[in-house]
Amino acid sequence: MSEFDLIQRYFTRATPGVELGVGDDAALLRVDPGMELVVSTDMLVEGTHFFPDADPRSLGHKALAVNLSDIAAMGARPRWALLALAIPSEDADWLRAFSEGFFALGERHGVELIGGDTTRGPLNLCVTIIGETPRGTALRRSSAQVGDDIWVSGTLGDAALALAHLRGELSLPETAHAACARRLHQPEPRVELGLALLGVANSAIDVSDGLLADLGHILERSGVGAEIRLDALPVSDAWHNLLHTGIGRRCLLAGGDDYELCFTAPASRNAEVAALAGRTGLPLTRIGVIVRERGCKVIGTDGNIMAIGETGYDHFK
Ligand code: ADP
Ligand code: MG
Repeated sequence: MSEFDLIQRYFTRATPGVELGVGDDAALLRVDPGMELVVSTDMLVEGTHFFPDADPRSLGHKALAVNLSDIAAMGARPRWALLALAIPSEDADWLRAFSEGFFALGERHGVELIGGDTTRGPLNLCVTIIGETPRGTALRRSSAQVGDDIWVSGTLGDAALALAHLRGELSLPETAHAACARRLHQPEPRVELGLALLGVANSAIDVSDGLLADLGHILERSGVGAEIRLDALPVSDAWHNLLHTGIGRRCLLAGGDDYELCFTAPASRNAEVAALAGRTGLPLTRIGVIVRERGCKVIGTDGNIMAIGETGYDHFK
């Protein structure tokens, strides 16, 4: 199979939302006046982000999902994606499953694959995502205000638990592991919530490297601090008994791969945020407040400020 056949067979689908999609030297996009493009890229590398035997369908899903999550965190509508792919061989079963996982998620969010690059090499998946938002509306990290409530969507720490289980650092019962593994391998980007937060939230970020690390980015960029309560953090049923273990707390506060949204909103918007939870079918939990004093204080279950070691994942630490 030639490189061109491969692209044609696995990565070329109708793209009615662009002037020109896959097949030329570049794609052509039309942008409505009054809109801004929102662009982000995220790479998944074998051995760093996934195990060598990872299921290709899940990989296709996740490569796009982590990018959609960034668009969601900006409150934007995802439109188009580019896929730069290094693959060790042209394994037809692998390519079919990978592309199915990618396109299945893309279709659900109205995202078209409009280009990319395909080369032979150690497995490496790099997606670039392009979204749109009305000019001046994007949710930034830098605009949290003192007095804002801090919210998170869904539940935290499940993906980190699954990873800890796979590494033999703890042992989850079978059903709990299955649920956590789904969060790790097939994260659901919170696109609908991000869109709904426009005009309601002051700032937002997606939780990909751990709650404290990612909330820390909001705090730093906004020049503020936070107080959050450990017992307010939303966890799934898998957490039975784990909250009081060291490794459980680490997964909850500093584990990665949650792909939930963490956002801040004025207290006067509480009723609207609560209504959004109903509308999106996604639990939204108030975990703390933005304060003037810099840094992030975590109040433990005993009411005292916890000493925090790790705050999240950093590739270069
Ligand atoms: P060039 O040599 O000009 O970079 P390529 O042969 O790499 O062109 O790509 C040909 C066309 O196929 C381009 O439109 C490119 O965007 C697209 N393409 C290449 N790889 C992929 C991929 N993995 N997914 C989607 N489109 C791809
Ligand atoms: Mg190329």
